[in-house]
Order: sequence, then C-alpha cells, then structure tokens
Amino acid sequence: MIRTDWTREEIAALFDLPFMELVYQAATVHRANHPANEVQLSTLLSIKTGGCPEDCGYCNQSVSAETGLKATKLMDVRAVLQAAAQAKDNGSSRFCMGAAWRNPKDRDMPAIVEMVKGVRQMGMETCMTLGMLTERQAAMLAEAGLDYYNHNIDTSPERYGEVITTRTFEDRLETLEHVRDAGINVCCGGIVGMGETRGDRVGFIHALATLPKHPDSVPVNALVPVKGTVLGDMLHDTPLAKIDEIEFVRTVAVARVAMPQSMVRLSAGRESMSDETQALCFMAGANSIFTGDKLLTTGNAGDDKDAALFARLGVSAMQAEIKVGLEAAE
Ligand code: SF4
Repeated sequence: MIRTDWTREEIAALFDLPFMELVYQAATVHRANHPANEVQLSTLLSIKTGGCPEDCGYCNQSVSAETGLKATKLMDVRAVLQAAAQAKDNGSSRFCMGAAWRNPKDRDMPAIVEMVKGVRQMGMETCMTLGMLTERQAAMLAEAGLDYYNHNIDTSPERYGEVITTRTFEDRLETLEHVRDAGINVCCGGIVGMGETRGDRVGFIHALATLPKHPDSVPVNALVPVKGTVLGDMLHDTPLAKIDEIEFVRTVAVARVAMPQSMVRLSAGRESMSDETQALCFMAGANSIFTGDKLLTTGNAGDDKDAALFARLGVSAMQAEIKVGLEAAE
C-alpha cells in the first residue's frame, strides 16, 4: 500500500525495530514491488563543475569551500553525448547530468534541452540536477523528454538550516512541486552521516515519505567528508566522520518500507562501504547505484569492482523501460 500519511512516530518505530526484523520487512516489501535480483546502473556526469554560489556544507563545488576545485563552464553538447554513449556501452540505463548552479539561466536552456534529447535518443533514461527551477524551465525540460529531475532535501527540515543557509527547505519543496507539476519523475533524497541524530534521519525519511507523491527515485548518500568543506572540516578525523554501516542499512530499509515503489539508490559514500554492507543494502531494498570512477567530483566504487560484486551476488543490471525516439518526448 502506498501511504503518504506516515507519522514521525511510525517512521521512528521502523528505525527502532530489531535489525533482522527491519531488514526482513524491507526485503518483503521490496520483493512485492521490484525484481529481487536486479539493480539499476546509473552514470553521473558533471556537466558544469564548481563555482556554485550556494553554501551546502558538504559540497566541494561551493564557492565557500576551500578545496582548490577548478570551476568549469557548461560542457558542450557533443562532449556530453559522447560520455553518454560510453556510459551506455558500460551497461548504464540511466544517464544523470549535474551542474553546480543555484539555478539554470535561461540562456543555458537550449543546450540543456539538446543534451536531454540526445541522451534519450540513445535509449537511456535521462536525469538532470541543475538547482532550483522555475515553472517554465521545468516545462521546457518536460517537453524535451526529461525522465527524472534530481533535487534533494538533503536532511530533516529541522537540521536543514545548519547545513545550508543560502536557500530554504521550502525553496526545495517549491522546485519539487514545479517538477512534479510538469510531469517529470522526481528524484529526491539526501545525505546521512553529516553528524545528524537518529531523530534527523527519521525526519528526513518522514519528509520524503509524506510528499504529495513519493519521489520516484530516492538517493541515500553517506557523506564523503572532503577537507575544505564546512562539514568535511568539522567531521574529518572524528568518530562521526563515517556513518555506522548498520545504521546506514537501517536508513535504506526504512526508506524501502515507507516508499515501497520508489527506486532507492545507493549514491555517494559507496566507495568506502564493504561489499557486505552493500549486499545488506540490496537485501534491504536498495535497487539502484551510480557506476563509474567518479561521482561528480568525489571518488566512486568503479565499474570493475561493481561487476565483481554483482557476479558474487548473482545480481544483474536492470534494463531501462523507455520508449525511444521522438514520440517518447511528446
Ligand atoms: S550541492 Fe549543488 S547547490 Fe549545493 S553547493 Fe554543491 S553544487 Fe551548489
């Protein structure tokens, strides 16, 4: 049953279940709604890196981070399509493109639209993350055939202001509304391991599971603390620097139970996770991962390592189920 009326107490009670019970419930919900042994492979490309005016405390692409990351201009369409073709050859069925912007400028939109159309023509699902969108920009992306738009709430509403000050939780919800209203699938999740409490993790999942419609895709990231970022400097070399892996699996499992039909995606932080933890995450309902050596600007597990893990687990890559061609964008 799809519920958007979860109470915080119900979400907290799921987190509090004995671990085996929680994973069993999550695996049961997962099997009822998704193929049990298939995981979607997505590739993420940074189409415009660094120099972002936002101050997200975890991000090395913010101008307020002192990480020496070089800012780049928006990539040209041909280079993006080449990278997409390569990702397809490596088995990806979804191609995600991210730009470090507060919001796209109208002058950027024609190139963005070309990228969406081009990747879709290759038969891959498309996803973009470009910051805040106006209603009109969301409509343009929908018309181009964009399948998913990523815009994360990051953390609980209460903790949000400690992580980002340049835009509000409500701003995020507004962009999500524009995306939903334009008919684009919503990809929305956040990051754990930012020094938050269990209560914040409850609030984070609760906020997602009580949106007017569950996000179609829910990325659950584990913070990669990068020195020079606010959170990286705060958490580096402290016991909080890495989320407890059992608690991470619990977060994935609660997301699966609360949002049965969403794709739950393991995203940042997978590189430092053991194979066993990843296997538990798949058991608990994660069914999408990012592949490749890089996630925007931080390290990732790499295609060979993932292929070896899939072989050990008997997991196969999920195929995209999209209509390809011009009619798909209509
Ligand atoms: S997370 Fe996105 S919006 Fe925030 S600073 Fe990084 S690039 Fe900018």
